[in-house]
Amino acid sequence: MTFLKTRNKSDKQPQRSCVACRLRGNKDDFIRLVIDSNGDAVVDVAKKLPGRGAYICPNLECLKRSQKGRLAGALKSTIKNADLWDKLEAVIIERSNAVER
Ligand SMILES: [Zn+2]
Repeated sequence: MTFLKTRNKSDKQPQRSCVACRLRGNKDDFIRLVIDSNGDAVVDVAKKLPGRGAYICPNLECLKRSQKGRLAGALKSTIKNADLWDKLEAVIIERSNAVER
C-alpha cells in the first residue's frame, strides 16, 4: 500500500495570502471570493465554487483595504455588485462571533 505514503504530504494545508494585507496562512483561515458565471463577485463560503478566487482575512480592516481596488485587482475583474461588501461584512462578523467565546 505505497500510495498511502503520499497522503501525509497533502495533509499540509495549501497556503494562501490575503489580497489586502498579504498575510499568508492556511486556506481555511481566509474567506474566499470568486467571480461567478454572471461576472459578479461572490463570497465562496464553502470554498467550492469554480473560477478565479481571491482570499481575504476574516476581519473588517482587510475588507476595507480590499475595497480600495485590491480585490478587483486580485480577481482581475471589477466589482460591479456593491452588495458583495455587505455580504462579506456579514460573513466576517459571523465568523468572528463564532471564534470569540
Ligand atoms: Zn488580510
